[in-house]
Parts: sequence; C-alpha cells; structure tokens
Amino acid sequence: MPIPSIIDPSRTERIEFSNDEIARYSRHLIMPEVTLDGQKKLKAASVLCIGAGGLGSPILLYLAAAGIGRVGIVDNDVVDFSNLQRQVLHGTKDVGRSKCKSARERIRDINPNTQVDIYETYFTSENARKIAEPYDIIIDGTDNFQTRYLSNDLCVFTKKANVYGSIFRFDGQATVFAPHLGGPCYRCMFPEPPPPGMVPTCAEGGVLGVLPGIIGVIQAVEAVKLICGIGETLIGRLINFDALGMKFREFKLRKDPKCPVCGPNPTVTDLIDYDQFCGIPQQKKREEEDALVPHVSVEELKARLDRGDRFRFIDVREPFEWDICRLEKSELIPMAKLPARMSEFDSAEDVILICKNGARSGHAVKMFNEAGFTRVWNVAGGLLDWSDRIDSKLPKY
Ligand SMILES: [Zn+2]
Repeated sequence: MPIPSIIDPSRTERIEFSNDEIARYSRHLIMPEVTLDGQKKLKAASVLCIGAGGLGSPILLYLAAAGIGRVGIVDNDVVDFSNLQRQVLHGTKDVGRSKCKSARERIRDINPNTQVDIYETYFTSENARKIAEPYDIIIDGTDNFQTRYLSNDLCVFTKKANVYGSIFRFDGQATVFAPHLGGPCYRCMFPEPPPPGMVPTCAEGGVLGVLPGIIGVIQAVEAVKLICGIGETLIGRLINFDALGMKFREFKLRKDPKCPVCGPNPTVTDLIDYDQFCGIPQQKKREEEDALVPHVSVEELKARLDRGDRFRFIDVREPFEWDICRLEKSELIPMAKLPARMSEFDSAEDVILICKNGARSGHAVKMFNEAGFTRVWNVAGGLLDWSDRIDSKLPKY
C-alpha cells in the first residue's frame, strides 16, 4: 500500500548538500519521484541492519551508496572464508577480522557521507531497545528465529518498520512488517517458532551465494521507498523468489486479530526471553545428551587407526560431502541408508561412526543402540575436530 514518508518533514529542513554530494546523487535528483526532497529524506534517515552477512552485504552497500545518512550494524562475528561466497561486503583480506569493522571500512569507502555505527554484540532483549532507539527502520538480515521474534516485537512496540528477508538454498522471501502503518507482524504469520533444529540454517543446508544479493536488494529497495514515501511497499505482501524456476510469487498477508503482540488484546507487551521462546535451552540440553552417547575423541581414533585395531569405521555423511573430504579406511553409509543396512553389522565387532561435527553420527549411535548393538562409538567433534587437532590438510567445509 502507498504510505507517506516515515521521515517527518521537520527533519529535512536543515539538510544541505555539498557540490560533491549533488554530483554523487544526481541520478536520483533528476527523478521526479525522488528529487532533492527525497534525497534529503534519505540523508535524514537512519537504518539499523541486524547482521553484516549475506543479506546485510547488499543492504548496507546499496543503502550507503543511495545516501542514507546513518546506518547501524549489529554483528558479533568475524569474517570466515566460508562467508566470502555471498557476503560481498567483506574481502579475502578481511578473513578473521570483525565483520562490523570490515563493513564500516567498506561503507566509508563507498560513501564517506554516511555515518556508520557499529555494535559488536549479539542483538538481545537486554540491549535491543537501546541499540535500536536512534533508528527509523530495522532491517533483519539474520537467519535465526530468536532475532526474528525479537526484532519483530521491538518494532511493534516502538512503531518502527521491520524489513524482513530470509534465504535458504535457492529460495528467498521478503516483506515489510509495520502494523502501525497497516498489515500484519511476523507473529501474525508465525505465532510459534518451529521446534529447534527442525528448520535447517544456511550453514546446515547451504545457500546459493547470489540469492541473498537478490533478497537483500529487495529489502534495501523497500527501505528507500519507506523513507522517500514513494511506490507500493511490501506491507501486507510477501514476495517469494525461486531462483531455480526464476519465479517471483506474491502472497497476501493478513493481520491475525488474535496476535499476541499487534492484536487489539495483546498478551505480550514487553520483550521476552527469546532463547527460551524458541526452545534454545532445550535444544542445548538435547545436544548435551547426544554427546553423552559412547564416544571417542579424534586423538583416540587416531591411536586406534595407527595401532591397526580391528573395527568398522563408518562415515554417515552424504556422498557429496564424502567427495569433499574423507578419512582413509572409513566406509560411506549415509545416515538415511543405515537402518536398511544394519543387518550387515556383527554385534560382536566394534563400530566407530563419524560425520562432519559429531551430531549426525551421535544420532546414528543411538539408532545402533536401539537396534541392540552395544559396541558402537561416536567420534566427538567429527571431521572438523580431526582437521583442527590431527591433520590440518583435511579440508573443512
Ligand atoms: Zn501481529
């Protein structure tokens, strides 16, 4: 729906531009929908981007280039080699550096007129209000449910637009949540978070590196439109993008009259413990329990291999993971094929199971135990630990 600019006209009264800025923004200034007035709104505006990763990269690059006066970045991570495939804000030279600092340096190079505030911390119930306070728009560029619910609730309570984006493999979604301007909030769509571990993250399931480029740019476009007060915003609409089919689909979103935060009778009126709400402590407990299955360390595994001990050494990962790296003497039986192949095992022989990080193989040990096998061990920490502590020549992915 078309809505007026979220920037109060009084805020643009004193905004002026240097000749350099006039030249820099000239392609905006000559568009009747933007003009000097719209550019002043962009300069007066402030946007907080949660996450300087896949989505945050195009969001921050384009918003700074467009002349947003102030951007804030919340990120507690450092740049990793595995980020560079999609996080174009950071370069190879930045690996190991704080994402916030790397982002600030790049943004200052793109547009020194943009003020960049960095918050090298997680966005939490304790700090969210204070961090978000100076900003007009919050853009969610994270991929965890705790932050999604937190930024949603905060934006509902403080009447700020929340520009939403999510990505997974070849698919992405974007919308704008702003119940104070019409339309629903995130909780109207998803009243309850999914059980922890049910929805794989990009780190677990992968993501096409180009995809956040498209979704993040849609988020940046929406921020610019909200600020300039032009066009039709994504309030009340969700755009779904399928990269493989190259299809955009649009879904109408409706306000839930029973919504606990934006409905007429809200039951949630202040920020809550979002880790608890999303089942994170229960998930941690389950992981601790999984770690308690009989296990060996990578050092013990190496000693057993070096001694030539007799045992069946099974890698439960997928064949495409096996192609990336594997340990000599291990045998591939992907997790899904294990139940059907259980009869090939002798309950008197020792079995050692390995996967990328010890999680899947920990579950596999339980499957063996339930089938009556007792001489089965998990390699704690999996191939990642092997690469870290035994042989760094084994590639990590
Ligand atoms: Zn709602």
